[in-house]
Amino acid sequence: MKPEEFYQALSQRGIELSSKQKEQFQIYFHELVETNKVMNLTTITEESQVYLKHFYDSLVLGFVDERILTDELSLCDIGSGAGFPSIPLKIVNPKLKITMVDSLNKRIKFLNDLSGKLNLTGINLVHGRAEELGKNKLYRENYDVVTARAVAAMNVLTELCLPFAKVGGEFIAMKSEKAPEELNEATYAIKILGGKVGDQKSFELPNNEGVRNFIFVDKTKPTPKKYPRKPGTPGRKPLV
Ligand code: SAM
Repeated sequence: MKPEEFYQALSQRGIELSSKQKEQFQIYFHELVETNKVMNLTTITEESQVYLKHFYDSLVLGFVDERILTDELSLCDIGSGAGFPSIPLKIVNPKLKITMVDSLNKRIKFLNDLSGKLNLTGINLVHGRAEELGKNKLYRENYDVVTARAVAAMNVLTELCLPFAKVGGEFIAMKSEKAPEELNEATYAIKILGGKVGDQKSFELPNNEGVRNFIFVDKTKPTPKKYPRKPGTPGRKPLV
């Protein structure tokens, strides 16, 4: 998906990017690829692949929950890496209040430099493990939407993400084809962490690039104080 095809695909969904927004995506591509030469950020570096598998793929979250592309929501992206999905969403909807969490400080530093180059405001970058930050009252139960792409299996991810969602808010997991199996294994974790399984939506990427699945978890009750457990424990001993 070349940049022009990307703009057109968005236009078909009613999203007309301004020249400033197009330029922000171009700068993002450039910074990603240049920084990737000295720091491991992504294995995808070819322009049309970045536009499809990073930029468009991130925006699909807003296609399945349109409020994310229009409203002034607080969104927390756990394990944001080089900024996916939250930076593309922020470029399209500047009203979003974004918090990005990552345990690797060099990625947070990249995001800090990038946010400056893109002139983005309303971005909070946090270096740390989700297991620790999820206990900190600055972040716990503070967000309308919590999301994560390519971070962990659903039962582990629920313990990392759900503590950040407000009661009444939601956690939306971005998953590939294995979503139904992962969800089966996460039913217990979702229940004891204060969630309830909501919608499940699928979206087919253009150019036969596969299906993306979204598991919506509604936060219906506060997460019990003992969760998340210590760093590493959710991955080693998933709640089952
Ligand atoms: N979400 C990005 C994407 O889709 O391109 C990055 C995915 S990358 C495979 C996973 C990221 O999650 C890494 O940057 C890693 O440092 C971060 N991460 C993994 N476990 C974490 C944890 N417990 N707390 C915070 N960040 C974590």
